[in-house]
Amino acid sequence: MPASPTFAAVIAKLKKFYGPPPPPPVTDPFEQVLWENVAYLADDDKRARAFAELQKTVGTSPNAILKAPPEKLLAVTRLGGMVPELRAERLRQSAEIAQILLKGALDAALAESLAKAKKTLRQFPTIGEPGAEKILMFAGKYPVFGLESNGLRVLQRLGFAREQKSYSASYRAVQQALCGQLPKDCPSLTGAHQLLRRHGQALCRRARPLCEKCPLRESCAFAASMERQYL
Ligand code: SF4
Repeated sequence: MPASPTFAAVIAKLKKFYGPPPPPPVTDPFEQVLWENVAYLADDDKRARAFAELQKTVGTSPNAILKAPPEKLLAVTRLGGMVPELRAERLRQSAEIAQILLKGALDAALAESLAKAKKTLRQFPTIGEPGAEKILMFAGKYPVFGLESNGLRVLQRLGFAREQKSYSASYRAVQQALCGQLPKDCPSLTGAHQLLRRHGQALCRRARPLCEKCPLRESCAFAASMERQYL
């Protein structure tokens, strides 16, 4: 079994392999909530098209969404894949939470403390703990490492933590394993997130990962176990 790599070594290798990570598509906290809800099971291009249509035809402020006729929101969410009616309703609910429940002061609510910021964000549709942490990291509000499923899978396969019975338990196990290894600033954490996501999409795919092309192969527990199986 290869020795577990350090997080810094993993990120350095991925950066060398893929080049500098791209910035996140949106960073404003409320726009990130809309980004999550505008599409479902859609690739990045499809999600970006639906979000661009929302920007162009409705706007991305809570007020603009609350004023928009339902057909206009539906026309946007139809570009984002399955269950467009549900997602149009989620856009409207998100705007109500930001404008009515939080009285138009989302940024002020997020500034109170990390715990309160996460609780606030989890009130929005489809935003759980990982999503809330990603929003805060992308927005530069708190240096927390919000991992998504691709990055989580890469780190599990490299041996940082074993897969658990639930996604949230797996997420917590990886976060625990990374304790003390993470950079302390949002831009570095965001860059690491983007590189791990890219790697999970390009080579370390859920089904049939392309280990033979991977720059992390030498130190990967999953690749070593696959090799042993075929000896
Ligand atoms: S060697 Fe394979 S399993 Fe390991 S990180 Fe690379 S692609 Fe993923």
